[in-house]
Amino acid sequence: MTVPVEVTADRRFGTNSYLVEDEDTHDAVIIDSNLEPDLITEVARERGANVKAILLTHTDLDHIAGLHELRDALGPIPIAVHDSEREVVEQGKALRREFGPIATRLDNVTSLAEGERYRAGSLEFEVLHTPGHSPGGVTLVIDGYLFTGDALFAGSIGRSDFANSDGRALIEGIRAKLLTQPDDMIVYSGHGPATTIGKERRMNPFLTQ
Ligand SMILES: [Zn+2]
Repeated sequence: MTVPVEVTADRRFGTNSYLVEDEDTHDAVIIDSNLEPDLITEVARERGANVKAILLTHTDLDHIAGLHELRDALGPIPIAVHDSEREVVEQGKALRREFGPIATRLDNVTSLAEGERYRAGSLEFEVLHTPGHSPGGVTLVIDGYLFTGDALFAGSIGRSDFANSDGRALIEGIRAKLLTQPDDMIVYSGHGPATTIGKERRMNPFLTQ
């Protein structure tokens, strides 16, 4: 199976939205929904991708802002999120005490849970719970790629200064579940460029000491 990955970033927060497609069947998912959802739907259209689901690494505003527009463009496909952040998507509950609630109310929400594979058409993802930036942070694994959201970045890690963050859990999760992956696993983060596990294990200043 060949699984091409395309990325678009919005101009305001530089948040990445990814299109992950099975080249054989054209089944695809979108991972995270940044502030310019038209960019990723255009990529999907150009590729002839059949988007089966939207997967969320977590629910900070910049990763879910485009959900309603994506749904308008793609139809009522499932939105998958970790249970501890599900109410943010379904009921518009605030993820952060520091920010107000977001007017996001969507149905057909499904669960991403560690130990359960998530299937979308012919694509199948392994789910790793990597909390700490937020309670329901997950990393999605498929075919040599890790989609780490705001847990792990090239040369950095996610913020953990919010009331519901947990800096120790963040680093423990990265060490136990991400740095134990093979060196050549490609890391696609919530912001910024791609990297590899081998490079981050050797060079990431937050993880090397
Ligand atoms: Zn973010």
